[in-house]
Amino acid sequence: MTSKHPETLALHAGWRRDSATNAVAVPIYQTTSFQFESAEHAANLFGLKELGNIYSRIMNPTCDALEQRLAALEGGVAALAVASGQAASAFSVQNLAKAGDNIVASTDLYGGTWNLFANTLKDQGIEARFVDPTDPEAFARATDDKTRAYYAETLPNPKLIPFPIAEVATIGRSFGIPLIMDNTAAPLLVRPFDHGAAVVMYSTTKYIGGHGTSIGGIVIDGGNFDWEANPGRQPALNTPDPSYHGAVWSQAVKPLGPIAYILKMRVTLLRDLGAAMAPFNAFQFIQGVETLALRMREHSRNALAVANYLAGHKDVSRVIHPAHHTGVGADRTAKYLPHGQGGLCGFELAGGSEAGRKFINALKMFYHVANIGDARSLAIHPASTTHSQLTESEQAATGVTPGYVRLSVGIEHIDDILADLSQALDAAKG
Ligand code: PLP
Repeated sequence: MTSKHPETLALHAGWRRDSATNAVAVPIYQTTSFQFESAEHAANLFGLKELGNIYSRIMNPTCDALEQRLAALEGGVAALAVASGQAASAFSVQNLAKAGDNIVASTDLYGGTWNLFANTLKDQGIEARFVDPTDPEAFARATDDKTRAYYAETLPNPKLIPFPIAEVATIGRSFGIPLIMDNTAAPLLVRPFDHGAAVVMYSTTKYIGGHGTSIGGIVIDGGNFDWEANPGRQPALNTPDPSYHGAVWSQAVKPLGPIAYILKMRVTLLRDLGAAMAPFNAFQFIQGVETLALRMREHSRNALAVANYLAGHKDVSRVIHPAHHTGVGADRTAKYLPHGQGGLCGFELAGGSEAGRKFINALKMFYHVANIGDARSLAIHPASTTHSQLTESEQAATGVTPGYVRLSVGIEHIDDILADLSQALDAAKG
């Protein structure tokens, strides 16, 4: 596929037809295992002399089509589909950092990622050093000899301030440290590899799927990071791996292309921890990806219209949307999101927590769910749900105030979206 246009790649990259049946749609290869051609073929596959299907925990043709398509859309070289966004986040870090190592992560992260880093990876001996992304230099200050990766979200909610990808990627590269970007909220709107990130991950559960049917995740290798430049900085890819006959991944994988990072993840972490994406889910995500460019355009258009409407409403004290920032936030939006700011929009009700609760209860079309990124419009009142275990000051630190409502604006007709919001705002007053 020679096209670089996302609309075309979304329909064509990584797949033409089924070689056995000529089927145009990617079949769901619901099989655990794949017959080897011969004893030699089997030995070559296991020895990584040849790449091919062995067992669906490690690779599967339906997942492969999704992996190739998303790698192409992102401008990367290869990808690994996994069971959830959480698995993708965990693998992206565990592939580089071992007990005694650390990563530097943005404070502005999805709560599940924060928990993974602050608790589960900590228990595994990997320290996450959280820094405020307002100042990119904070990443350099938190770096030491044991820092293996930087980690951030492109468009973290609730603040919705784009992350300074190029600034932090450049700092990382000066140390030999890759920047891993969670691009879940901004597929196609931002391509982090274009700004110097080395790895991109998604919760495909959200916009990639778009239909709210399946949990999944993916890690994409940019193929743009020199893992050998500073071998002491990246021991996981530059020292013999006892779990694979002492393979040194940066060397062993060279004949196959710049895919050392992602191939190691597949044949070690996925092999051992087993968080594989089911072929049925990969099929669902492929259907989603086909319309991703159209949906992101509509999500962005509708969310901007919602933000503008809310900004003019007398019961709304503040609107949080990338196009409504001032100062650094506005500069970052101009730099990273010039062609659309995504489907997320937050706002604060002047009436505080009680008004927030009433507003949510009055919504008729918006679904009240914890998810984001569906084609349908979704809403949640974080202070009484996702953030209710935090104190009010802890909530404030994450950007959640008592009257804050988060919207994931869908692709319904804008008149119907605004009508539902309008009647719920009226009800929240009563
Ligand atoms: N990253 C972001 C930005 C998310 O919003 C989520 C889920 O809400 C995740 C990662 C985790 O993804 P999953 O729920 O697919 O495990």
